[in-house]
Amino acid sequence: MKQKETIHIIGAGISGLIAAYELEQAGFHPVIIEKQGTSGGRVQTITVEDFQLDLGFQVLLNAYPLAKKYLDLKALRLTKLESGAQILVDGKRYVIGDPMRNWKVLLPTLFSGIGTIADKVNVLRLNLLLRKKSLDEIFNTPEVSTLVYLKVFGFSDTIISRFFKPFFAGIFLETELQTSSRMFEFVYKMFGEGYAMIPQDGIGAISAQLKAKLVQTTFKFNCEVESINSTTITLKGGEKIPNQGAIVTSNAAALIPNLQDAQTKWKSCMCLYFEVNQTSIPDRTIALVADQGKLSNNLYAYKDHKGRTILSVTTLKHEGMGEEEITKTVKKEIQTYCGTGHVKHITNFRIKQALPNLENLKYTSEPSASLIAENIFIAGDTQFNGSLNAAMESGRLAAAGLIEKKSGWFS
Ligand SMILES: Cc1cc2nc3c(=O)[nH]c(=O)nc-3n(C[C@H](O)[C@H](O)[C@H](O)COP(=O)(O)OP(=O)(O)OC[C@H]3O[C@@H](n4cnc5c(N)ncnc54)[C@H](O)[C@@H]3O)c2cc1C
Repeated sequence: MKQKETIHIIGAGISGLIAAYELEQAGFHPVIIEKQGTSGGRVQTITVEDFQLDLGFQVLLNAYPLAKKYLDLKALRLTKLESGAQILVDGKRYVIGDPMRNWKVLLPTLFSGIGTIADKVNVLRLNLLLRKKSLDEIFNTPEVSTLVYLKVFGFSDTIISRFFKPFFAGIFLETELQTSSRMFEFVYKMFGEGYAMIPQDGIGAISAQLKAKLVQTTFKFNCEVESINSTTITLKGGEKIPNQGAIVTSNAAALIPNLQDAQTKWKSCMCLYFEVNQTSIPDRTIALVADQGKLSNNLYAYKDHKGRTILSVTTLKHEGMGEEEITKTVKKEIQTYCGTGHVKHITNFRIKQALPNLENLKYTSEPSASLIAENIFIAGDTQFNGSLNAAMESGRLAAAGLIEKKSGWFS
């Protein structure tokens, strides 16, 4: 049999791993070039002292269609987050949740001071609307900001500022809800149709599982691509590799000549980890800080593999502040909000490029649309929307585009 050409994938994040998997299925032996020393990209669990910490708080929504397609969800030993969130505001704590999903939150939700009765009716209306609306319809609806969407839907300023803002700020990684209504509807629908989950071994178990599925792929770690054109991949340091077909999963504008206009804007966040002796935040529950002027946005408490109680705190207002000041302020805030006694600071992750700041969000596209220059295909969540689902879909499509092109299905 004729030896297939060597396909290079730049980046070993989720999109690169899926692209490699699809190429393997078509008989290729891809090579992944990754600038870091490990795979996973933005989906990693890091060891600090003897703590296993996710590189930023993130969850897998098990309703993601692509997660169902590519992941062995059972083998990930997923821990379900509690439905319903604790809202911390004005020295009080409220519970808000979807009573149709978890009856335990029915009474607290109905009697919470978070919104009006009309808000609760609107939540049910929104649930019904999005249950019926397909993903295709969601991504073909004209976009407005999430804030405008919620106001037009009839939600009160109180529920917007006390629930939607802190909850979706933690997901969109921006505090003003300027993110597209398509993303809001997509994420809300996914929450409604499944659960937010975290693997017992940390979010990095997702990328580890995808990597373990690859049997014909070679990894070149600690190897950074400097530029790529239709014939050559140039590595930092000057080495040149013939380009017989490549998938670029990150930073395409910097690597490919004449793509400067496609420069991605990014949203950043900072995630702080603490070990605490006790906390009033129930296990596996998200707590949202709705007080103005606080650094902490969302808190998550869990027991780690050694039975220790860990608090992860995400902040979005860290720009311009020093590490020490942020840590000190957040530590004080968690002592107030969580009733913790002993607090040991473990570490902070400042993530500059956490989520792409995109307009005209898409769910999917045609495989041929991933061809952006001769012999170069593009993938990455930046192509569609900032989610694990989009990263997987983009990797799948780039591989499909490349395979189709090599088979002469399109010119
Ligand atoms: C804090 C945080 C919270 C999140 N929360 C959620 C969530 O709750 N749910 C959800 O669905 N999604 C969430 N996401 C988004 C999700 O993690 C991403 O959408 C997904 O991981 C993107 O994968 P990717 O392959 O597109 O990109 P990346 O993971 O960025 O992979 C790109 C890879 O390319 C490598 N690379 C870049 N340039 C070069 C070069 N020149 N040469 C060689 N290698 C290079 C990088 O090192 C990286 O490994 C979150 C992300 C963050 C950071």
